[in-house]
Amino acid sequence: MRRWTKVCAGVVAAAVPAGVGGALGALAGGRSGLVAGLAAGGVPGAAFGWAVAAFEPYDLTSVRGITRYVADLTWSLPNTWLGAVLLTGNLLAGNRVVAELSRHGGTVHLAGRTLPAMNGVRYVTTVGTVVAGIAAPAATPAARALLAHERGHVLQARLFGPAYVPSVLVNYAAATVLPLWWLWHDHARYPIRSVAAYFQYGVYPHVWNEEWCYRVYGPRR
Ligand SMILES: [Zn+2]
Repeated sequence: MRRWTKVCAGVVAAAVPAGVGGALGALAGGRSGLVAGLAAGGVPGAAFGWAVAAFEPYDLTSVRGITRYVADLTWSLPNTWLGAVLLTGNLLAGNRVVAELSRHGGTVHLAGRTLPAMNGVRYVTTVGTVVAGIAAPAATPAARALLAHERGHVLQARLFGPAYVPSVLVNYAAATVLPLWWLWHDHARYPIRSVAAYFQYGVYPHVWNEEWCYRVYGPRR
């Protein structure tokens, strides 16, 4: 893409969350709300806009790239904002963007992981368009499956927009108190004998978005 296209795409990607944040803030609380909203939208927006300009996650010469860009700044803006918050925190903590994975992938990739290991398993995190924890392009089938899985969550956010995160949270709560997944859970492979295992191998992979991505993309579990 031409330099000015990249810069414009980044400026718009920063300005949209700032503008929406400012407008919502002004509606909620007048002048002080406006300032708070501008900051809440604009600070993560600036980090996201910088990533859009510098790493070209959206190929704006293709229909697919334009569609992703428009979706992420409109219908899926709440998800994009959450991802931008994750991006901002990670950049401040010293994480770095992986250029080879981010370019034209529709996602901003961070090299380092954000979650501590759980029972020896280290999870990759995807929020909005930001994927944290894959440091290099996939070299093995398992790594390709992991990348496809995480990008599956980005697609889900784009499809379900503002309903995505609330529906996942509601499903998480429901799967905790009413474990219907117990009926189709692979008890031989993932026996549940502790509270930690109940969440890690029971609730988490059976929430609808994970059930979908593990089945469609893998990795096999
Ligand atoms: Zn997942």
